[in-house]
Formats: sequence, structure tokens, C-alpha cells
Amino acid sequence: MSARARTRGVVVAIDGPSGSGKSSTSRGVARRLGLRYLDTGAMYRAMTWWMLRHDVSVHDPAAVAERCHEPVIETGTDPFHPTITVDGRDVAAAIRTPEVNAAVSPVSAVPQVRARLLELQHEAIAAALDGVDGVGIVVEGRDIGSVVAPDADVKVYLTADASARAARRAAEEGGADVAATESSLLARDRIDSTRTASPLVIAEGAVHIDSTPYSLEEVVDLIAGMVEAAG
Ligand code: C5P
Repeated sequence: MSARARTRGVVVAIDGPSGSGKSSTSRGVARRLGLRYLDTGAMYRAMTWWMLRHDVSVHDPAAVAERCHEPVIETGTDPFHPTITVDGRDVAAAIRTPEVNAAVSPVSAVPQVRARLLELQHEAIAAALDGVDGVGIVVEGRDIGSVVAPDADVKVYLTADASARAARRAAEEGGADVAATESSLLARDRIDSTRTASPLVIAEGAVHIDSTPYSLEEVVDLIAGMVEAAG
């Protein structure tokens, strides 16, 4: 039986702090097993980008809550070509700026934002499990195993040393300053872990993987093996 057949209908939840390698790992697992891929962080970033563009004060939860139903956010779940658009515009690059990095955690802490994006996430997961695309999905974020997909077949909590995470993120961002990247990601981790609405937690049943000593390939192998064993 092929990996694709064995993993049909599977949901894989991958959570962890910023820069832990979630995106590369999640895409790698989805590509390996023929699954769809959903980057929920990109959805929070897209919402934040829209708020900044419309001059909504991101530190005013009531103002963010009032307008969070306006942006039309669409996410493509092909792990070879993940896409994200807001009101029809490709924002893949625009959501990775320092301005969005600095504003995304306060926007993500607003319960109405989370409720709106949770609906979109559930739609994307349902689409990946139904019909022609019904192969299953790898979903990455902060609250996937705890809130978005608590019944996921495989749950992973992926971490790495802060310095390793910062070095990785800085390289992804085209050689950004590592010290500045580390303090920005630690600031986000603090807000993400201490907020009231769906904080970053190790979900019940999640396997904790510290990726610091491993290559990307090794972590993908490990998780793909867990998914095949669960299927
Ligand atoms: O994963 P990424 O670093 O792109 O996520 C950006 C931000 O989006 C996180 O720092 C967090 O504030 C928010 N987020 C969230 N819940 C998720 C995914 C991301 O609150 N499931």
C-alpha cells in the first residue's frame, strides 16, 4: 500500500513557537505523504496586514474586533505552492515584514479574530478531507492540537533552542539581524503563550520534538513515520 493510500483522511497538527521549523517541517511532511498543507500563521499575518493597511490600531482590541470580519482571506493548501490572498491580492511577501511581525501577536490575541479564522481553518480542513482533494492535511500553528483540531490523528509540539530558531528565521528573512530576530520572536512567544484566548500550549496527546540537533530531513522522516503508523 502506498503512503498516500495509508494516510488518506489523516489530520496532522503541528504546533510550536516562532521559528521552530514548523513551516518547513509541515510542508515537508505534506509533500512526502501527498497531503494538503495549511499555514494558520499566514492567516493571522494576513489579518494583521489588512488591519495595518486600513489604519486600524492593532493595540486596540475593540477596534480590531469590530473590523475583523471585513477582509476576504483565502489560503491555498498545495504544499508545493502555498498561497495566501487578502481581498484577491497576493500577500505572501507582504505578511513577512517586521511591521507585521511586531503587530501579529496582539491581533491574534483578539477572540473575535480567532473565531473568524477558526471558521476558515475548519473549512480548509473539511475541504482537504472531502471530495477529490480528500487526502488529509498537515495544519501548523499554535493552537491546532488544542483548539482547531483536537481530534487530530497525530499531534506534534515542535521546539528548538531560541538561538537556533532566530538563526533559522533570520536566514529565511534574507539575512536579517539574528539578535533583533531573536528578541522579536521571544516577544511574540511571550504574548502567544500568555494570552487568554487559545494560548500556545502543548496539546494533550502531543509528541514533543526538540528539533535543535536534527536536520529538517530527519524531523520530516520522524513525523512521516508517526503519521504512517497512525494511519
Ligand atoms: O507561525 P507564524 O510565526 O507565522 O505565526 C505568526 C503569529 O500568528 C504568531 O506569533 C501568533 O501570534 C499567531 N498565530 C496564532 N495561532 C496560530 C498561528 C499563528 O495565534 N494557530
